[in-house]
Amino acid sequence: MSKLTIADEIKQEVERRRTFAIISHPDAGKTTLTEKLLLFGGAIREAGSVKARKASRHATSDWMEIEKQRGISVTSSVMQFDYSGHRVNILDTPGHQDFSEDTYRTLTAADSAVMLIDVAKGVEAQTIKLFQVCSKRGIPIFTFINKLDREGKSPFELMEELERVLGIRAVPMNWPIGSGRELCGVYDRMKNQVELFNGNDHSTIEVQKVADYNDPHIREMAGDYLTDQLIADLELLDVAGDQFDYEKVRAGELTPLFFGSAVNNFGVQTFLENFLQLAPSPTPRQSTSGTVDPMSEKFSGYVFKIQANMNPAHRDRIAFLRICSGRFERGMSVRHVRNGKDIKLAQPQQFLAQDRDIVENAYPGDIIGLFDPGIFRIGDSLSQGSEIVFDELPTFSPEIFAKVTVKNALKHKQYQKGIDQLTEEGTIQVFHSSGGFDETILGVVGQLQFEVFEHRMRAEYGVEIQLHRMTFQFARWIVDDKIDPTKYRINSTLVKDKKDNYVALFENEYAMRTAMEKNPTSKFLEMAP
Ligand code: GDP
Repeated sequence: MSKLTIADEIKQEVERRRTFAIISHPDAGKTTLTEKLLLFGGAIREAGSVKARKASRHATSDWMEIEKQRGISVTSSVMQFDYSGHRVNILDTPGHQDFSEDTYRTLTAADSAVMLIDVAKGVEAQTIKLFQVCSKRGIPIFTFINKLDREGKSPFELMEELERVLGIRAVPMNWPIGSGRELCGVYDRMKNQVELFNGNDHSTIEVQKVADYNDPHIREMAGDYLTDQLIADLELLDVAGDQFDYEKVRAGELTPLFFGSAVNNFGVQTFLENFLQLAPSPTPRQSTSGTVDPMSEKFSGYVFKIQANMNPAHRDRIAFLRICSGRFERGMSVRHVRNGKDIKLAQPQQFLAQDRDIVENAYPGDIIGLFDPGIFRIGDSLSQGSEIVFDELPTFSPEIFAKVTVKNALKHKQYQKGIDQLTEEGTIQVFHSSGGFDETILGVVGQLQFEVFEHRMRAEYGVEIQLHRMTFQFARWIVDDKIDPTKYRINSTLVKDKKDNYVALFENEYAMRTAMEKNPTSKFLEMAP
């Protein structure tokens, strides 16, 4: 047999990769689902491993303590496993108290997303935000309705909610037979099979092939009442529901919908199998010099996240790189495009839950962690051969704001240095008042970002700062050739970002709407232009 050429090898590796993020509101079951997926992939041996990690990062103070002990961050990582020939990368998107802009930026590194929804709660606030980021990128979104063992909204109600709140239509891949305490299984609409859920022993799942949903076998298994309901529902779906349309799914216009219960391991494996079949392998990426094909032999990637070490004795950081093309080899030299220098990638790491391994080879879709002595910024491109510059990462609209002052005026230089570096890392966003008296306003999407900022200013730059919370909740970038700043004085505050773009801050939605009405020529953007 002839040896694989590099091109063949890259193609093979790209095609088997699936890189995705799970988006959900806290408590929907993301940790539980992640854990089940890792168990299937043999990446962990015991349930509870991921949970333990989550528990350990609950409170901020604990979290910082953990960072110190371990020397480097455990708060966010990438989990990799193999399943039926696929190589799966799950990107962790921090939620809860560590929700931050990093959560959004991580989504840019995913090729698809799994949206997890609690059957009783439906579409919740954080899900909406994360969905919108994915939706703007046009990546495929798969929906898993979780906690089906509990009483909740009806499947039709949930489909209607997805459309009304998120503007996406859903195509059910399976359908529950009964619900809550009466749940006895799901009907798989693609494979025409019934998956039975043994209520007493949750781990036992019986799978029975049937001709279609009118097959008398279903009645024997589920009884008259649930079977009649199932047939009525599925008839309605056949007539009034959307047909499965692969192109629409790939474009993020239609979401395949699955029902299950993560904690009971019910519907998880079929979900995983369907997902792996339908989700895209790493897709081409846009750069200033055109589209970059993942199959290209030249290595390229970009930094989407920088994780600083919380221990002041070790200033090193880890830059998370999403590989976009070619083959990564340990020790290879690549061009750091922004500063025009060649650098050697000597100690790359791959992440799995808490363990970090040194990686020898990696391919498009993979995420590697690079030791960063302070040379990387969010959005930096690395490439081999030609200089590829990937499109800039979006800047997301902050929701929490504070004025910052330095306690000791003599420390102003260090303060400025700290602000500059931490902004580059994407820890915070900085705004300045647009007229007269200069005030520094910081914006973040998660409270923890402020705490990290304060902590690091003290630990790394020796500067004590004071944050004065402001009551703004919304920021919009204003694009208008003929902007009249006086019109933004009422109900809002006009500031400038670090690139001198105008940004209006509002205390509530009413104020924002009023400003929109008063300034019909202005565009109000949720992301920096
Ligand atoms: P996360 O905050 O999204 O990571 O949610 P977790 O995975 O920590 O789950 C939140 C809670 O919901 C935990 O108590 C889980 O045991 C529970 N949970 C997760 N999946 C299910 C499910 O399918 N059914 C029920 N009844 N509870 C679940």
